[in-house]
Amino acid sequence: MRALILSDIHANLEALRAVVDEANNRGGFDVLWCLGDLVGYGPDPVACLKLVQSHSFLAVAGNHDHTAVGKMSVESFNYAAKAAAHWTTSQLPEDEVEFLSVLPLVANNDPFTMVNGSLRNPLEEYLLDADSAVASLKLLTSRFLLVGHSHLPFICLENKGTPQFVEFIEDGVLSLTEERWIINPGCVGQPKDRDPRSSYAIYDDQATTIERHRVAYDIESTQDKMREALLPEYLIERLKSGI
Ligand code: ZN
Repeated sequence: MRALILSDIHANLEALRAVVDEANNRGGFDVLWCLGDLVGYGPDPVACLKLVQSHSFLAVAGNHDHTAVGKMSVESFNYAAKAAAHWTTSQLPEDEVEFLSVLPLVANNDPFTMVNGSLRNPLEEYLLDADSAVASLKLLTSRFLLVGHSHLPFICLENKGTPQFVEFIEDGVLSLTEERWIINPGCVGQPKDRDPRSSYAIYDDQATTIERHRVAYDIESTQDKMREALLPEYLIERLKSGI
């Protein structure tokens, strides 16, 4: 079984298509695992949801999914994220509102647990340091935790209670050992590690590996659609620089 691991698609259809196409060229996948924030920021929320739903998939909710359907306040968002959230809400038909509303905050597919932020605070915490890693590892009942939310790829080894963050390099292949790991595959629709290309990972249960890759996509097309939708210029520009 091979799983395509995606996080933070953020309604960016060009990015999502590029990732799915490239994953197919790399040996394909049987199931798609989505670590939240399927919508928000980007111009194609419905088309992205349809593309995910056209595969066998397992998905959890992110904060942008919840704000889009009114389950979470936009108060903590900056002006641009707020504007994008309101626009996303206006685009969603009832069935997609229902789809996003019932996504779980945490999903299990042994030996993996999936969450957008962290197990301590699934929708809001950025798991990026030892404190947040320790807290999530305490709550983790499986061997591996897959997270998104920060839009930054990394791997973190439990390391007997002193979590050790390691760069998850491009085209890196992680052999899953007996130790417990936290893995962030990076972001599909709005990378923030100063590389605008989409980031994703593939799990192979035969090889017991997770590999991470990047793929360029047609950023200009996404930006054109965002301008047409009158989404904030700040969100449009940042796609090009990956911040
Ligand atoms: Zn996100």
